[in-house]
Amino acid sequence: MCAKIDKNIQDAELYKELLEGNKQFVKNTLAIDPEYFTNLAKGQSPPVLWIGCADSRVPANQITNTAPGEIFVHRNIANMVIHSDMNMLSVLDYAVNVLKVKHVIVTGHYGCGGIAAAIGNNQFGLIDNWLRHIKDVYRLHAKELDQVADFDERCDRLVEYNVIENVYNLCKTSIVQNAWHNGQPLGIHGWVYSLSTGIITDMKVSTYDNGQMDNVFKFK
Ligand SMILES: [Zn+2]
Repeated sequence: MCAKIDKNIQDAELYKELLEGNKQFVKNTLAIDPEYFTNLAKGQSPPVLWIGCADSRVPANQITNTAPGEIFVHRNIANMVIHSDMNMLSVLDYAVNVLKVKHVIVTGHYGCGGIAAAIGNNQFGLIDNWLRHIKDVYRLHAKELDQVADFDERCDRLVEYNVIENVYNLCKTSIVQNAWHNGQPLGIHGWVYSLSTGIITDMKVSTYDNGQMDNVFKFK
Protein backbone atom coordinates (compact mmCIF):
# COMPACT_ATOMS: atom_id res chain seq x y z
CA MET A 1 0.00 0.00 0.00
CA CYS A 2 1.38 3.40 -0.90
CA ALA A 3 1.99 5.95 1.81
CA LYS A 4 -0.69 8.30 0.47
CA ILE A 5 -3.49 5.70 0.69
CA ASP A 6 -2.25 4.66 4.10
CA LYS A 7 -2.48 8.27 5.22
CA ASN A 8 -6.03 8.55 3.79
CA ILE A 9 -7.15 5.54 5.82
CA GLN A 10 -5.64 7.07 8.93
CA ASP A 11 -7.60 10.26 8.24
CA ALA A 12 -10.82 8.21 7.79
CA GLU A 13 -10.23 6.51 11.13
CA LEU A 14 -9.69 9.89 12.76
CA TYR A 15 -13.07 11.01 11.40
CA LYS A 16 -14.73 7.90 12.84
CA GLU A 17 -13.11 8.57 16.21
CA LEU A 18 -15.21 11.72 16.48
CA LEU A 19 -18.40 9.69 16.07
CA GLU A 20 -17.16 7.19 18.63
CA GLY A 21 -16.40 10.14 20.90
CA ASN A 22 -19.97 11.31 20.50
CA LYS A 23 -21.33 7.91 21.58
CA GLN A 24 -19.12 8.05 24.65
CA PHE A 25 -20.27 11.61 25.41
CA VAL A 26 -23.94 10.58 25.28
CA LYS A 27 -23.31 7.52 27.44
CA ASN A 28 -21.31 9.43 30.07
CA THR A 29 -23.78 12.32 30.17
CA LEU A 30 -26.86 10.10 30.55
CA ALA A 31 -25.14 8.15 33.32
CA ILE A 32 -24.94 11.37 35.33
CA ASP A 33 -28.33 12.84 34.29
CA PRO A 34 -30.84 10.68 32.36
CA GLU A 35 -32.92 13.81 31.57
CA TYR A 36 -29.99 15.94 30.37
CA PHE A 37 -30.79 15.98 26.65
CA THR A 38 -34.56 16.07 27.17
CA ASN A 39 -34.18 19.20 29.28
CA LEU A 40 -31.65 20.89 26.98
CA ALA A 41 -33.89 20.29 23.95
CA LYS A 42 -36.67 22.41 25.53
CA GLY A 43 -34.91 25.66 24.63
CA GLN A 44 -32.10 28.06 25.39
CA SER A 45 -31.82 31.33 27.27
CA PRO A 46 -28.07 31.99 27.54
CA PRO A 47 -27.22 35.25 29.34
CA VAL A 48 -23.99 35.77 27.37
CA LEU A 49 -22.93 36.20 23.75
CA TRP A 50 -19.29 35.25 23.16
CA ILE A 51 -17.41 36.60 20.15
CA GLY A 52 -14.15 34.68 20.03
CA CYS A 53 -11.38 33.47 17.75
CA ALA A 54 -11.91 30.34 15.66
CA ASP A 55 -8.67 28.93 17.10
CA SER A 56 -9.30 25.34 18.26
CA ARG A 57 -7.60 26.02 21.60
CA VAL A 58 -10.09 28.64 22.80
CA PRO A 59 -13.44 26.87 23.38
CA ALA A 60 -15.84 29.23 25.18
CA ASN A 61 -17.48 26.68 27.49
CA GLN A 62 -14.41 24.79 28.67
CA ILE A 63 -12.32 27.83 29.55
CA THR A 64 -15.16 29.48 31.50
CA ASN A 65 -16.27 26.25 33.18
CA THR A 66 -19.77 26.60 31.74
CA ALA A 67 -22.13 24.06 30.18
CA PRO A 68 -24.01 23.85 26.87
CA GLY A 69 -26.93 26.29 26.98
CA GLU A 70 -25.05 28.94 28.96
CA ILE A 71 -23.16 30.83 26.21
CA PHE A 72 -24.31 31.83 22.73
CA VAL A 73 -21.19 31.67 20.56
CA HIS A 74 -19.89 33.37 17.43
CA ARG A 75 -16.32 32.71 16.33
CA ASN A 76 -14.20 33.93 13.45
CA ILE A 77 -10.53 34.51 12.72
CA ALA A 78 -9.15 36.91 15.34
CA ASN A 79 -12.54 37.59 17.00
CA MET A 80 -13.44 40.47 14.71
CA VAL A 81 -16.51 42.73 14.75
CA ILE A 82 -16.72 44.00 11.17
CA HIS A 83 -19.42 46.57 10.42
CA SER A 84 -20.63 44.80 7.25
CA ASP A 85 -20.32 41.17 8.44
CA MET A 86 -23.90 39.88 8.10
CA ASN A 87 -23.02 36.69 9.93
CA MET A 88 -21.79 38.54 13.04
CA LEU A 89 -24.61 41.13 12.83
CA SER A 90 -27.26 38.39 12.57
CA VAL A 91 -25.85 36.57 15.59
CA LEU A 92 -25.66 39.85 17.53
CA ASP A 93 -29.21 40.85 16.58
CA TYR A 94 -30.63 37.47 17.58
CA ALA A 95 -28.66 37.40 20.83
CA VAL A 96 -29.64 40.94 21.88
CA ASN A 97 -33.21 41.18 20.57
CA VAL A 98 -34.50 37.62 20.86
CA LEU A 99 -32.39 35.87 23.48
CA LYS A 100 -31.99 39.13 25.45
CA VAL A 101 -28.45 38.37 26.57
CA LYS A 102 -27.12 40.53 29.40
CA HIS A 103 -23.50 40.57 28.27
CA VAL A 104 -21.51 40.43 25.03
CA ILE A 105 -17.86 39.49 25.45
CA VAL A 106 -15.14 39.83 22.81
CA THR A 107 -12.44 37.33 23.71
CA GLY A 108 -9.05 37.41 21.99
CA HIS A 109 -6.06 35.26 22.88
CA TYR A 110 -2.31 35.75 23.11
CA GLY A 111 -0.43 33.88 20.39
CA CYS A 112 -3.22 34.51 17.85
CA GLY A 113 -2.16 33.40 14.35
CA GLY A 114 -4.51 35.88 12.69
CA ILE A 115 -2.89 38.77 14.54
CA ALA A 116 0.62 37.53 13.70
CA ALA A 117 -0.32 37.20 10.02
CA ALA A 118 -1.76 40.73 10.01
CA ILE A 119 1.42 42.24 11.45
CA GLY A 120 3.56 40.71 8.68
CA ASN A 121 3.75 41.66 5.00
CA ASN A 122 3.26 38.23 3.44
CA GLN A 123 0.18 37.47 1.31
CA PHE A 124 -2.04 34.54 2.39
CA GLY A 125 -4.81 34.86 -0.21
CA LEU A 126 -8.45 35.82 0.36
CA ILE A 127 -7.91 36.11 4.09
CA ASP A 128 -5.70 39.17 3.52
CA ASN A 129 -8.91 41.17 3.05
CA TRP A 130 -10.16 40.00 6.46
CA LEU A 131 -6.81 40.59 8.14
CA ARG A 132 -6.71 44.14 6.79
CA HIS A 133 -9.17 45.13 9.51
CA ILE A 134 -6.48 44.16 12.03
CA LYS A 135 -3.92 46.24 10.13
CA ASP A 136 -6.35 49.16 10.55
CA VAL A 137 -6.17 48.62 14.32
CA TYR A 138 -2.35 48.48 14.12
CA ARG A 139 -2.33 51.83 12.32
CA LEU A 140 -4.19 53.46 15.22
CA HIS A 141 -1.41 52.38 17.61
CA ALA A 142 1.53 52.24 15.19
CA LYS A 143 3.67 54.73 17.12
CA GLU A 144 3.67 52.51 20.20
CA LEU A 145 3.69 49.14 18.45
CA ASP A 146 6.59 50.03 16.15
CA GLN A 147 8.74 50.59 19.25
CA VAL A 148 8.19 47.02 20.54
CA ALA A 149 11.21 45.14 19.19
CA ASP A 150 10.15 41.61 20.18
CA PHE A 151 7.72 40.22 17.56
CA ASP A 152 5.70 38.04 19.95
CA GLU A 153 5.37 40.89 22.40
CA ARG A 154 4.22 43.21 19.60
CA CYS A 155 1.62 40.61 18.55
CA ASP A 156 0.31 40.32 22.10
CA ARG A 157 -0.07 44.09 22.44
CA LEU A 158 -2.01 44.11 19.17
CA VAL A 159 -4.18 41.24 20.44
CA GLU A 160 -5.19 43.52 23.33
CA TYR A 161 -5.75 46.59 21.14
CA ASN A 162 -7.75 44.47 18.69
CA VAL A 163 -10.09 43.29 21.46
CA ILE A 164 -10.55 46.85 22.72
CA GLU A 165 -11.28 48.13 19.20
CA ASN A 166 -13.81 45.36 18.57
CA VAL A 167 -15.58 46.14 21.85
CA TYR A 168 -15.88 49.68 20.51
CA ASN A 169 -17.09 48.35 17.15
CA LEU A 170 -19.86 46.45 18.96
CA CYS A 171 -20.91 49.61 20.80
CA LYS A 172 -21.16 51.47 17.47
CA THR A 173 -23.74 49.03 16.05
CA SER A 174 -27.37 50.15 15.83
CA ILE A 175 -28.27 46.85 17.54
CA VAL A 176 -26.37 47.62 20.75
CA GLN A 177 -27.25 51.33 20.78
CA ASN A 178 -30.96 50.64 20.29
CA ALA A 179 -30.88 48.15 23.19
CA TRP A 180 -29.36 50.85 25.39
CA HIS A 181 -31.88 53.46 24.18
CA ASN A 182 -34.69 51.06 25.09
CA GLY A 183 -33.33 50.61 28.60
CA GLN A 184 -32.26 47.02 28.05
CA PRO A 185 -29.43 46.12 30.44
CA LEU A 186 -26.48 45.15 28.24
CA GLY A 187 -22.77 45.12 29.04
CA ILE A 188 -20.07 44.92 26.37
CA HIS A 189 -16.74 43.51 27.57
CA GLY A 190 -13.24 42.69 26.29
CA TRP A 191 -11.13 39.76 27.49
CA VAL A 192 -7.84 38.16 26.46
CA TYR A 193 -7.14 34.47 27.10
CA SER A 194 -3.64 33.09 27.65
CA LEU A 195 -2.99 29.77 25.89
CA SER A 196 0.06 29.15 28.09
CA THR A 197 -1.61 29.69 31.50
CA GLY A 198 -5.34 29.22 30.80
CA ILE A 199 -6.05 32.54 32.52
CA ILE A 200 -8.41 35.20 31.14
CA THR A 201 -7.46 38.85 31.61
CA ASP A 202 -10.22 41.46 31.68
CA MET A 203 -9.18 44.42 29.50
CA LYS A 204 -11.37 46.61 31.75
CA VAL A 205 -13.19 48.30 28.89
CA SER A 206 -16.70 47.25 29.99
CA THR A 207 -19.33 49.57 28.55
CA TYR A 208 -23.01 49.89 29.49
CA ASP A 209 -24.07 52.97 27.47
CA ASN A 210 -22.87 55.23 24.65
CA GLY A 211 -21.76 58.03 26.96
CA GLN A 212 -18.05 57.61 26.15
CA MET A 213 -18.60 57.16 22.42
CA ASP A 214 -17.26 59.60 19.79
CA ASN A 215 -20.18 61.79 18.82
CA VAL A 216 -20.16 60.83 15.13
CA PHE A 217 -21.11 57.22 16.00
CA LYS A 218 -24.00 58.06 18.31
CA PHE A 219 -27.54 57.32 17.17
CA LYS A 220 -30.50 59.31 18.55
ZN1 LIG B 1 -6.68 33.49 17.15
